[in-house]
Amino acid sequence: MSARELTDLFASVPDVRPSLELMAARAVLLRGLAKPFESELIADISGIVAQAPFRHMLTPGGHQMSVAMTNCGSVGWVTDRSGYRYDGADPESAKPWPAMPPSFRALAGQAADQAGFGGFSPDACLINRYQPSARMSLHQDKDELDLGAPIVSVSLGLPAVFLFGGLQRSDKPRRFRLEHGDIAVWGGPSRLAFHGVPCERAASPTGRRNAPPDDKLREDG
Ligand code: FE
Repeated sequence: MSARELTDLFASVPDVRPSLELMAARAVLLRGLAKPFESELIADISGIVAQAPFRHMLTPGGHQMSVAMTNCGSVGWVTDRSGYRYDGADPESAKPWPAMPPSFRALAGQAADQAGFGGFSPDACLINRYQPSARMSLHQDKDELDLGAPIVSVSLGLPAVFLFGGLQRSDKPRRFRLEHGDIAVWGGPSRLAFHGVPCERAASPTGRRNAPPDDKLREDG
């Protein structure tokens, strides 16, 4: 079978992935939901990065994170030798973080709504850029003021493995494949679930970057 025939064969196979996949209680993957908005999202990320460039932050233990990060919104998540926290200013420029684009707010609200969290209006968005060697060890998102609000995480770019575990670090995580356009939403009893991204990405033949599999969005208040 030629490569062309193989491509045609795959093209004829419908996408059998469910559009909504349950990861845990009140934790879902919304497959492909961001895809129709990819151009706007990517243009908006470029605008943010022009004002607040990606950087590799230091953990409180002094390790440089392999994931490059930036933020938009009224506060942004930062880490340095003094700890993890949300800060209204970018520590590199001392200026406020770039405003959250309407595209981010609308998509996050729609995703949260589809996941059963109505009325979500985020005030912060962490943008994580994973290059092929980057990883994010299992962690909880627990620096937010309002743990009643869900986390909405939008994946763009290369596929990645997403680990979603339980409330204890020792709980064995389940593995999910995240594709371009997928959105993970978790809250309620899963709000403090451990999650992470192992270093299992194939190197991109085109040099295309994977950004950002972990937009964290926090509700106002
Ligand atoms: Fe996280």
